[in-house]
Amino acid sequence: MLRAIKTTARFTKNVRYHSGIGFNLTTDQKDLQEVARKFTQEYITPNAAHHDRTGEYPVEILKKAWEAGLLNGHVPEKYGGLGLGVLDCAIIGEELAYGCTGIQTAAEANGLAEAPVILAGNDQQKKKYLGRMTEEPLMCAYCVTEPGAGSDVAGAKTKAVKKGDKYIINGSKMWITNGGKANWYFVLAKTDDTQSAGRAFTGFIVDANSPGITVGKKEINMGQRCSDTRGITFENVEVPVENVLGKEGQGFKIAMGAFDITRPLVASAATGLARRALEEATKYSLERKTMGKVISEHQAIAFMLADMAIGVEAARLLVWKSAAIRDSGESNTYYASMAKAFAGEIANKNAADAVQIFGGNGFNSEYPVEKLMRDAKIFMIYEGTSQIQRMIISRLLLDKTKAGL
Ligand SMILES: Cc1cc2nc3c(=O)[nH]c(=O)nc-3n(C[C@H](O)[C@H](O)[C@H](O)COP(=O)(O)OP(=O)(O)OC[C@H]3O[C@@H](n4cnc5c(N)ncnc54)[C@H](O)[C@@H]3O)c2cc1C
Repeated sequence: MLRAIKTTARFTKNVRYHSGIGFNLTTDQKDLQEVARKFTQEYITPNAAHHDRTGEYPVEILKKAWEAGLLNGHVPEKYGGLGLGVLDCAIIGEELAYGCTGIQTAAEANGLAEAPVILAGNDQQKKKYLGRMTEEPLMCAYCVTEPGAGSDVAGAKTKAVKKGDKYIINGSKMWITNGGKANWYFVLAKTDDTQSAGRAFTGFIVDANSPGITVGKKEINMGQRCSDTRGITFENVEVPVENVLGKEGQGFKIAMGAFDITRPLVASAATGLARRALEEATKYSLERKTMGKVISEHQAIAFMLADMAIGVEAARLLVWKSAAIRDSGESNTYYASMAKAFAGEIANKNAADAVQIFGGNGFNSEYPVEKLMRDAKIFMIYEGTSQIQRMIISRLLLDKTKAGL
């Protein structure tokens, strides 16, 4: 399967962006979608409730996804990966998330940690840290948020002090997805207090087994409960200078730059959840009868379904647009934030509407939609809250307008 997708990826790259607007996937992208859809049907959907109930990390499913070529998609071919584009990864993301966004988030957190290395790593770093992800089914994690600094990344306090050919890192990170399962971390730490955020931070690759790292307890979250979220503490952790990404002082730019790749993917997962909610609600509405007819024949319900369908299509279009712009080599920050904000909110709306359409059954864990409602909330929070996306969008919009563009 991996070989088939590899061939697909190469072919897709050559033909993808040669024309104007197109809403159809290439044959190769359809094949990718099919592989991911079948994988989800076989391994994710049937096991989602178990992992939600127990919070058990989906090791076996992730191993199988790795074998199928569905993890680490955007690792370049030179380092053993598939070299997929953001759009290709978004297609996969929507399918996996349809089955369970908790499992999909665990998978996608690899992409988030790898993105800074893809953006700023040198050949040696890529060979060592990206290469290893393609040689065995490993996980990695992106450590930026701290207990006192989430939206306010510039307020992060973790420090790295250079001593000879090493940096010594001290500080605490919080809410780290794959925190307890990672083989290595991307870590953002302050290296110069005298500089503004754009130059004060440096990005590091840190081996998870480095002495001085303490992994906190698994957090019990509202949704996506099998995803492993933890605090990570760094106490005099020594990191060799060769593990600095880019140059000292470039960390903030690298950490934020990763979001141009990953926000369309988070948005694709939110779209997958929104589509699942729509499909579950539609099926149920054709079975449940009240007042002598199936509830889909009550216009109030049919119109809710129509609005849910509009949301899925519109969210997917923003995802694909933001991904395609990135793949074409242009800046997609504006659209990536739009996709993230819109799809995250549609996921929440559709999940809540699905619960409503299921009535009392919707409130019960025997049915699939209450999990969707719990899982959806995080799409408005992680990788930049909906408010932060609006700050980015409005800033870019206003700057452009002020500049007369
Ligand atoms: C399950 C989970 C997984 C996560 N995974 C990761 C991970 O892998 N790696 C990682 O580094 N981080 C991760 N995070 C952290 C996540 O990105 C942050 O929680 C998020 O960015 C919000 O930061 P905060 O929690 O500190 O909220 P705060 O920044 O304290 O925000 C609180 C509220 O204030 C609003 N707000 C803040 N500032 C402004 C402003 N200027 N204008 C308007 N409104 C504002 C926010 O939108 C929010 O509604 C994860 C979080 C969770 C819950």
